Amino acid sequence: MKHANMTDGDRPPIVQAGDPVLRSRAREVLPAELATRDFQLLVTAMVTAMREAPGVGLAAPQIGVPLRVIVLEDRHDLMERVAPEHLRERGRVPFPLQVIVNPVLVVTGTDRATFFEGCLSVRGYMALVERHFSVEVTGLDEHGDPMSWRTEGWPARILQHEVDHLDGALYVDRMLTRSLCSNDEAQRWLDLPVGDVRKTLRT
Ligand code: ZN
Repeated sequence: MKHANMTDGDRPPIVQAGDPVLRSRAREVLPAELATRDFQLLVTAMVTAMREAPGVGLAAPQIGVPLRVIVLEDRHDLMERVAPEHLRERGRVPFPLQVIVNPVLVVTGTDRATFFEGCLSVRGYMALVERHFSVEVTGLDEHGDPMSWRTEGWPARILQHEVDHLDGALYVDRMLTRSLCSNDEAQRWLDLPVGDVRKTLRT
């Protein structure tokens, strides 16, 4: 997922909407594959691509690899220019790098939240997307050890966005279509109450 307050860079390894890899179901990573050098190189390439973009999440299909692997990370330095109120409203908190293989998501509450999000594979745009507020993910870490993570707010949104990529879905499939904005135009909406944005955009 795109980091909301940065402008787009030119990052060739990240494939863009239109590439069929983004519309296919990625396959599970096999236990025997986890220890291979190729797999470790994949994880390294994903983390590098995410950080260089910069983004807060990336799924393997986004670098053209149809495997069920996601990486996520949100850092203080990505939030420095973001208003504290904006961070609090979204439940956006720093968390260390997570590498999740074969992730399975379960929704853990009834609350939902609607905010702008973008995608490194849909360069140049953002839109409002309604997501579950709290989820639990289970899977394997980069060493093949079982992991689980129960979270809410922005990390939960990133998880839903990245797992969607593994099933061939993009945020544009779920967005409030009338809220689609160029990144430049989105700046006028990002710090306004979502209710007001929806009213103005009639969505
Ligand atoms: Zn994305």
